[in-house]
Amino acid sequence: MHNRLKILYQLQIIDSQLDELEELRGDLPNNVNSLNSKISELKEQIKLKEKEKQESLEKRESNDEEIEKLKESLKKFKSQLYQVRNNKEYDALTKEIDYTEETIKKMESENDALADRSKALSNEIEEIIPKIKELEKELKEKEAELKEIIKANEKEEKKLREIHKKIEEQVKSSDLAQYQKIRKAKKGKAVVTIKRSACSGCHNIVPAQRQLEIRRNNRIITCEYCGRILVSQEIAEEAEKEL
Ligand SMILES: [Zn+2]
Repeated sequence: MHNRLKILYQLQIIDSQLDELEELRGDLPNNVNSLNSKISELKEQIKLKEKEKQESLEKRESNDEEIEKLKESLKKFKSQLYQVRNNKEYDALTKEIDYTEETIKKMESENDALADRSKALSNEIEEIIPKIKELEKELKEKEAELKEIIKANEKEEKKLREIHKKIEEQVKSSDLAQYQKIRKAKKGKAVVTIKRSACSGCHNIVPAQRQLEIRRNNRIITCEYCGRILVSQEIAEEAEKEL
């Protein structure tokens, strides 16, 4: 049991050192992520606008074809007007002409609206492009900054990860699960010592009887306030010495 507690504390030491390295990166990883998602969002907007423009163009082309056909028909109808034999035929033909003219007009105004929309879309795209360029510039800077920080600590991080791996292999799997659960919940420290009779995780006083039990180093005892695993000074010192 003594050893189990010691290994857990060693794992905590290494994890804390890795956490410190990660803290050096500050907001940079988040910044990089959010810039990346902003950029892809804007690119997606452009893509949708381009698609709408393309559809608008296709619709206008098919309308134009249709308009040409209708104009041909119109010409035909108008020439037929001179050949009508009675009022009924005349009425039918003029009705046909009116209807065709109306359809042409409708399609032409639809095309005008589509062209206007297309122009607006082009303007919107033109406005988005410089925004993307600006964000990409910022992203490049942040990425370079982050890369530099990572590079500066690369060796140390690698060493820590190797040690971490070795220690982790020695931890009992149930202990590891408990450790990871607490670490996740507390965002950092899962194993702490007692300092001036208080849990050094949450600073609440640990009852004397509990402190006594902890000093026996014969079972895993957690802080009744924060749930972190408490180890004795003896365990902590040994763990540090043997790292
Ligand atoms: Zn506590």
